[in-house]
Amino acid sequence: MAEPKKHIKTKFIFVTGGVVSSLGKGIASASIGALLESRGLTITLQKLDPYINVDPGTMSPFQHGEVFVTDDGAETDLDLGHYERFTSAKLTKRNNFTTGQIYDAVITKERRGDYLGGTVQVIPHVTDEIKANILNMTDGVDVAIIEIGGTVGDIESLPFLEAIRQLRFDLGKENVLYIHLTLIPFINTAGELKTKPTQHSVNKLREIGIQPDILLCRTSRPLSPEIKAKIALFGNVDRDAVITAKDVECVYEVPLAFHNEGLDEKVIKLLNIWTRSPKLEQWERIAKKVKNPKSGITIGIVGKYVDLQDSYKSLHEALVHGGITNNVCVNFVYIDSEEIEKAGPRHLLKDVDAVLVPGGFGSRGIEGKISTIQYVREKKIPFFGICLGMQVAAIEIARNLCGLKDANSSEFNVDTPHPVIDMMLEQKNITSKGGTMRLGAYPCIVKKGTLAFKAYGKVEISERHRHRYEVNNIYRENMEKAGVVFSGLSPDGGLVEIMEYKNHPWFLGCQFHPEFKSRPMQPHPLFEEFVKAAIQNKKGKPALAGSKHGGQGIRGRKK
Ligand code: GLN
Repeated sequence: MAEPKKHIKTKFIFVTGGVVSSLGKGIASASIGALLESRGLTITLQKLDPYINVDPGTMSPFQHGEVFVTDDGAETDLDLGHYERFTSAKLTKRNNFTTGQIYDAVITKERRGDYLGGTVQVIPHVTDEIKANILNMTDGVDVAIIEIGGTVGDIESLPFLEAIRQLRFDLGKENVLYIHLTLIPFINTAGELKTKPTQHSVNKLREIGIQPDILLCRTSRPLSPEIKAKIALFGNVDRDAVITAKDVECVYEVPLAFHNEGLDEKVIKLLNIWTRSPKLEQWERIAKKVKNPKSGITIGIVGKYVDLQDSYKSLHEALVHGGITNNVCVNFVYIDSEEIEKAGPRHLLKDVDAVLVPGGFGSRGIEGKISTIQYVREKKIPFFGICLGMQVAAIEIARNLCGLKDANSSEFNVDTPHPVIDMMLEQKNITSKGGTMRLGAYPCIVKKGTLAFKAYGKVEISERHRHRYEVNNIYRENMEKAGVVFSGLSPDGGLVEIMEYKNHPWFLGCQFHPEFKSRPMQPHPLFEEFVKAAIQNKKGKPALAGSKHGGQGIRGRKK
């Protein structure tokens, strides 16, 4: 059995959630990380997911939202995206695990005979495995923040909660802190904020032996000192440990809002750590910029998962970052590509300043994406294709400019006479869906004098991938003759990583997912340049009045 390493230095914060899901535990955990970093502490974050899937890689984006990819190629929960955007923690596959992985490991050990014929049980075998996974990922940072997925009271999360209960016992009180995120709803008919759900939720935690130290109270209105006192009394926490987590306009305000409530001060006091006072100027600058944009642009996102916008979480944030650096607010219109198949692109794209076709899997809506790309290419509307978006751009150009009428990806038509997008040899032999892709960070060489070089300002870059198919090299020359520039290639020149179309103000596709590496403080250069191109395109059109960051809608859909 894996014995937890000894960790003398690292302190642990466990973040649980109560009452309902979707209260923003990921952003809350990331914000705590940001505040501790701003005090000069080193941190890491980890997400424990109670579901049985072994990883989120094969889960539908319709159900689960985006799959976030780390540099080392782990397919993880989208909360890791928040952690990377808010902090400088370097995340790997060790920073996210699921019940499925825990059981997989325990059963493998049992089959191997590691338990020497003993009865294998949830306590201690499963809980020990969970504890080892928590303790072995810290790399000696000052504070590790661990978010437990799900809501207290779920059957699935019980082994995780038992494991973190034991950890305070194992590591000592001054080394472990429990923070519980809960909801204080405002009931219209009573005209009051209600604390009862929080009381129940805290009781549920105490039943299993966890007394929270800090309550983060998600609410739409400020909490009065009287309500805070009541929550403190029933929740059995200090009064200054009841933190108002009021709704904010933009997620990047959350660290500041928590700081103003005294959260970081309370955390370091309870963990008995001495730090400098926090440096929050960067966060203040970002919040100010988000709230005071000079103007607005509208980006059309033509995809398949438009009903669950969590499917495009990092993409959305990367565009917001591109807006922050260009002093504009970015409004989003999510357009279902199947609707474009019915209605054509002209009407649905009528007032967008630029179009982005994101990544995706499967053939649904592909023809709508192809006609979108033809439209924006011919109308000279800025275009950004990401992963599948680039592959579809290659198909469009092959069909309409290279005379290869039936060009396609072998993902959508195995019998196409012109597989301009095809699978690499080594991937052809893999049949199971889990873990067969080009995943994680790969180097890329950028060609000088291209849009890509203008954005990156350097030749050697590294970006994260998640796909099976690639541009088929047989068609490269033909496409170059039609005006395509392959502006980013793998170091051996064998794989296309970035392609552009010359006769256009801004038409760029990349095989990787640049959105995973964008940060509010360091926007990704391709998003920065794409937003700039959208601003250029918009010049001359009437200004959008009173628009805010992240305004969004779904087009082409009866609601
Ligand atoms: N379905 C495509 C592939 O597997 C694109 C994947 C993506 O967009 N992430 O290559």
